[in-house]
Amino acid sequence: MIRNIKGTKDLLPDDTVKWRFIESKIHKILNSYGYGEIRTPIFESTDLFIRGIGNETDIVSKEMYSWLDQGEKKLTLRPELTAPVVRSYIQHNLQSLGPIAKLYYFDSLFRRERPQAGRQRQFHQYGIEALGSEFPEQDAEVIEIAYNIYNQFNIKELSVRINTIGSSSIRENYIKILKKSLSKYKSYLSPISQKRLDNNALRIFDSKNEDDKKIVEDNAPFIFDHISDEDLNHFNQLKNILDKINIPYFHDKKLVRGLDYYTRTTFEITSKNLGAQDALCGGGRYDKLVKQLGGKNTPAVGFAAGVERLLMLINDDAFDQLDNIKIYISILGEQNIPDAMKIVSDLRKNTNLNINIESNRRSLKSQMREANRQKCSYVIIIGENELQSKIVLIKNMRNGEQEKIAIKDLNTYFDKNI
Ligand code: AMP
Repeated sequence: MIRNIKGTKDLLPDDTVKWRFIESKIHKILNSYGYGEIRTPIFESTDLFIRGIGNETDIVSKEMYSWLDQGEKKLTLRPELTAPVVRSYIQHNLQSLGPIAKLYYFDSLFRRERPQAGRQRQFHQYGIEALGSEFPEQDAEVIEIAYNIYNQFNIKELSVRINTIGSSSIRENYIKILKKSLSKYKSYLSPISQKRLDNNALRIFDSKNEDDKKIVEDNAPFIFDHISDEDLNHFNQLKNILDKINIPYFHDKKLVRGLDYYTRTTFEITSKNLGAQDALCGGGRYDKLVKQLGGKNTPAVGFAAGVERLLMLINDDAFDQLDNIKIYISILGEQNIPDAMKIVSDLRKNTNLNINIESNRRSLKSQMREANRQKCSYVIIIGENELQSKIVLIKNMRNGEQEKIAIKDLNTYFDKNI
């Protein structure tokens, strides 16, 4: 038997109902903030991710699904969506449409990570990118959106951590200090972090290696203690807005990102109900990326959030109310099938009901069992007598009551009885 690839998942009908619920709610919320959806291709030139994420990151160095196509072009299944969105923004000259482009996505992505609970190889993210504003109110809006989405799904026990890593002008000086404090521990670092210490020390912060993390945590000086006055002012304004709009947050000086194009604000939302993979959403400002990918200097801020992890936190009760009214059509007698199907066809045309018709010619008893299994609220029985008298029997599966209804009144019967 051929099975699906490790780290991927089939979404079966019970799952897709939940997915559509989540998706439609997220589309609604993001539209309400004035963001427009963008959908980019599933694969891109490998170069985009090398330039947009960086060669020395885990994603690029070991997690990408890349291949050479028949034309010897290097292609990659997208491992994230910020670089594709920025590519598209530059390519379609979206800055010409207005000073600020507010874009969002809801899509699948691919990383060859070790699968475990909350970590897949094909997974989904929704995220936003606000391109064009350098001001802290834009950062605040992005954090507010991320937070509000969880709120709207009634997710409790969230922790919002924020920090600033300052603008790029302070990096050179900070990197010198960082190198000095970490070089004493160089031999204890992983080989890749040892290399990073020489070439790009900031990237050590992105290491997932536990020993590296501990060494960094215990010994790296906080970048926050080296930011400029303007950076601090930006951060204080952001905090002020978050206070005003009642977003609870914690200033975590350890929350840094190691890529050159990240600037100032970083944030992360975690949930302690998730287990080891507790990150729901990560984001921040990336004022240098658009230029780095060949566009004009454009300040930008955004976040990316995992859909599977959100789904893990949504209580099943939230989905129960989604079941709209379901009706099972039980047909008795082979010769009555065409007329019964005509009745159902009209009912479908005139109503929004979810109607499932028996197509296996089973006994009445089996059809009732099937209706129960499918959690149908009503069964309409159509047989010889019903067709002759033009009156059908409706059985309410919730209370067992039965009622006779003229076929011509079927369209409106459920309006009153739902
Ligand atoms: P990142 O793009 O790595 O900053 O991740 C953003 C969010 O995507 C994380 O906070 C997770 O919620 C989710 N995520 C990242 N990697 C995976 C994965 N392999 N499987 C499922 N969700 C993931």
